Amino acid sequence: MDGHAHTKQPPTVQATWTSDGTSYRITCPHCFRVHVHGPQPGHRAAHCEPGTPGKVLGYFIEPPADQAPADKERSA
Ligand SMILES: [Zn+2]
Repeated sequence: MDGHAHTKQPPTVQATWTSDGTSYRITCPHCFRVHVHGPQPGHRAAHCEPGTPGKVLGYFIEPPADQAPADKERSA
C-alpha cells in the first residue's frame, strides 16, 4: 500500500431503478452487495461497510437506460 488512492480509478456501475422508481439500485463492484443511492449519476462514495477499501474509492454510477417507473406511471 503506497497510499496513492488517486492512481486507482473508481469502477463504473450500471444502475437500475428501485421498485418504487425513486432511487438507483446498484450491485457494488467492491463488496458485491446491493446499495441504493439517490437518482444522481456520476461519482458517488460507496455504501460499503466502513473501513473497506471500496468505500473510499467509490464508483461512477451509470444511470438506468429506461425511464423511471414513477414517470411511466404519470405519462400513462
Ligand atoms: Zn459496497
